[in-house]
Amino acid sequence: MTAEEAISQIAQKVSACTKCALHESRKKSVPGDGPANAEIMFIGEGPGFHENEQGHPFVGASGKFLDQLLAQAGVTRSDVFIANVVKCRPPGNRDPLPDELAACDLYLEAQIKAINPSIIVTLGRFSMNKFFPDAKISAVHGQMQKVNERFVIPMFHPAAALHQPALKPSILGDFAKLPDQLNDARVAMGKAKIIFKEKKVEEIPDERPKQLNLF
Ligand code: URA
Ligand code: SF4
Repeated sequence: MTAEEAISQIAQKVSACTKCALHESRKKSVPGDGPANAEIMFIGEGPGFHENEQGHPFVGASGKFLDQLLAQAGVTRSDVFIANVVKCRPPGNRDPLPDELAACDLYLEAQIKAINPSIIVTLGRFSMNKFFPDAKISAVHGQMQKVNERFVIPMFHPAAALHQPALKPSILGDFAKLPDQLNDARVAMGKAKIIFKEKKVEEIPDERPKQLNLF
């Protein structure tokens, strides 16, 4: 099975899933969007009002801000895969419960396995806690750490920065570091560096030729 086939099979399973109570109130499930060969994967919390209506992640106010943040990193949505720790909307946008996170994790794990990204960026504490159960986001945000065969960077959730303007410089600064971090990760994984130019990127020509999955 190709990565694309795996990703669409996961989306189909999610749309019919009844493994936790969140299926009862969902309008549309939100499996995640993006290319199956994305080199960077973002993991948010869960669908909100607009995501539940449309079936796509980050389409509301925090999605607009996420687009600005991605631009800050020189990437666009079509370059990255965006998913959430729960695929159905918690009623009233409440926090996802431990049993819901546990039930939905198999889909996220299957997505990570299929996409095999070099870097995972966690947005907010629920996705951070999947990789760093005891970490405090205020202490570790923006710091890339190796987790098994890939790299994980915890970042603030865009919605948190919208509600607390004091966080905005931190989240903007963290996204601005992403191109260099991606190159650090690529070098550590034996891949060629990428030159980032505004929103366009090219591979450095005199390095070992490598297939570029993303850019
Ligand atoms: N917030 C999230 O964490 N995920 C979404 O998909 C939308 C808003
Ligand atoms: Fe299934 Fe996840 Fe939706 Fe719960 S949130 S019903 S586990 S897809």
